[in-house]
Amino acid sequence: MTADVLPDPLSTLLRAPAGAVNLAALDTRATPGYPGEGKADADAHREALAPQLADLQELLFADGRANPEGAKRVLMILQGMDTSGKGGIMRHAIGLVDPQGVHIKAFKAPTAEERRHHYLWRIEKALPEPGMIGIFDRSQYEDVLVVRVESLVPKAEWEKRYDEINAFELKLVEQGYTLIKCYLHMSKEEQAARLQARLDDPHKHWKFTPGDIDARAKWDAYMEAYTAVLERTNTDYAPWYVLPADRKWYRNWAAAALLREKLAGLNLTWPVADFDVDEQKARLAAEG
Ligand code: AMP
Ligand code: MG
Repeated sequence: MTADVLPDPLSTLLRAPAGAVNLAALDTRATPGYPGEGKADADAHREALAPQLADLQELLFADGRANPEGAKRVLMILQGMDTSGKGGIMRHAIGLVDPQGVHIKAFKAPTAEERRHHYLWRIEKALPEPGMIGIFDRSQYEDVLVVRVESLVPKAEWEKRYDEINAFELKLVEQGYTLIKCYLHMSKEEQAARLQARLDDPHKHWKFTPGDIDARAKWDAYMEAYTAVLERTNTDYAPWYVLPADRKWYRNWAAAALLREKLAGLNLTWPVADFDVDEQKARLAAEG
């Protein structure tokens, strides 16, 4: 199968609404922009993106080599409740790209050293190098999500962070970063089924932590915190995308397709050789 040409850019279809956000009104089972029939053909549509993703990643890498100062970098941020599919996207969407061009970073509860620094310190350290695609499994947004829900710092502290994150992201965009911020929108019912599956299958117990249930118990507070994120940090330079995540096959396809779209949108061109090609061909021929 060759890669699909979509009528509307997926980014337009998935863009978080401007202004007030009502998450309950956004369908977690929707499949916006999906070009096929459904689950049965999803692997084929997703895998059809691989050649383009490979070319675009190589182009980004070549650009980073040729032009390290002004180089483009891409950073995809994945946020969502436990089991919403951050790991699944790594395997099934990001896994389509050459691993040499990808830098994945998962953010856990801050270490003792990280806690001694500003919350953006560990984020800055993990930013992708020129020419690289960075993927964040959780991000600076945890500092207004779990931190807000669990009151890990006073409200006056986390309140300031929305503006601070916007300013931080503006600086990144001005430096040549493209940010692809994805909220994996899963229903509470779907999470119950996925946690149950993890508990029922001994091969999946490693994916489960009792803390997942604690977070689930605060579902409404998390939804409120996600709503605030989507309302307050959905800027035109670093927009949020809401990926309906109850259907894993759609979520994985959408993440790959969105990455493809954003890479293509950079309109990069292959760097021109900084040597005389004909001269090198002549030398090679002379060597026999
Ligand atoms: P997981 O991604 O399922 O491996 O879990 C990572 C855990 O780290 C989650 O429970 C997050 O809420 C937590 N975490 C990530 N960032 C922070 C942060 N800045 N402060 C507190 N907890 C965090
Ligand atoms: Mg987890």
